Amino acid sequence: MTGEGPRLSIDIVVPLYNEEQVVAEFHRRLMEVVIPLRRAHDVRICYVDDGSIDQTGAELAKVAAGDEGVTVLELSRNFGHQAALTAGLDRAHGDLVVTLDGDGQHPPELIPEMIELYRAGYEVVLTQRVAAEVGRFKRWTSAAFYRMLSAIGDTDITAGSADYRLVSRPVLEALRQMREYHRFLRGMVAWAGFRTVVLPYAERARIGGRAKYSLARMARFAADATFSFSLVPVGIALLVGLAFLLLAAAEVAYVLSFWATGQQARLAPGWSSLMFMLLIVGAALMIAVGLMGIYVGYIFQEVKRRPVYLLRAVHGNAPRRPPPGPDRPEP
Ligand code: UDP
Ligand code: MG
Repeated sequence: MTGEGPRLSIDIVVPLYNEEQVVAEFHRRLMEVVIPLRRAHDVRICYVDDGSIDQTGAELAKVAAGDEGVTVLELSRNFGHQAALTAGLDRAHGDLVVTLDGDGQHPPELIPEMIELYRAGYEVVLTQRVAAEVGRFKRWTSAAFYRMLSAIGDTDITAGSADYRLVSRPVLEALRQMREYHRFLRGMVAWAGFRTVVLPYAERARIGGRAKYSLARMARFAADATFSFSLVPVGIALLVGLAFLLLAAAEVAYVLSFWATGQQARLAPGWSSLMFMLLIVGAALMIAVGLMGIYVGYIFQEVKRRPVYLLRAVHGNAPRRPPPGPDRPEP
């Protein structure tokens, strides 16, 4: 299972937010995979506590106490899933990094297979949710979301892909250079390119607790993905605006034609059509301004160059800073 070849240095990054019921069982399941892997490789686990307000921190402290290969990054508040993943990725310094959710929905049993694909020369191993134990609503919104993204964006993002993936060191370095505030890692990894393979998997049910993505959060996530990866929405606004300009020109021509033929007296009762035009044009303008506003807002947040997350503390035995330079042979 672990295969032949050089000893690899592997980081596993797991974001957690209020998962007190889940941590111990998740870690147990993960270790069933990690223990055999450690015979052939150096495997470190990095749990990112994304500002949990329950006992997740205490549970993680227990886990870290029992294994010196475990580091816990404690963020100063809840920064969100993508930021938590980023914190873990920033800390990673192995030949490859695997990220997976800490709620048990991403089966850790795939990790050895992902490593085999890495050895076969792939730099990115994505996973794709197939037959899932997730609800119909989630599946439907997810499908619609990816269809919309591929229609308007120019970066191809694998439908149903999760933040369960392996990236090699060069991809990790690429991601580190992308410091945008509104992060959509699936899109960023796709944008980076590299040799990519997709591994299908059946998503499991959560070990316990509840999903942290409320409808509002999912909407914000979709907006981040859309507006940070596509300028098409502003383009649409512009097109709608132009179409209304053409309509207005046609209207002027129409009215002038009455004057040209001396029938202007018949033009009197135009109130309703006028109001109609006024409202439609107003709506088009508002749409255009609104879309512009969204992008301006995004630009505003990006130019502030705020950090994506803040650390309160780092627990565990891992080195405070990644060792400088590549200290091991390329695979
Ligand atoms: N998560 C996080 N910060 C957040 C929300 C979620 O670190 O603000 C973690 C969460 O603990 C879980 C993973 O990200 O390990 C995925 O979250 P969730 O299961 O709520 O999302 P879903 O499976 O519905 O996509
Ligand atoms: Mg989940």
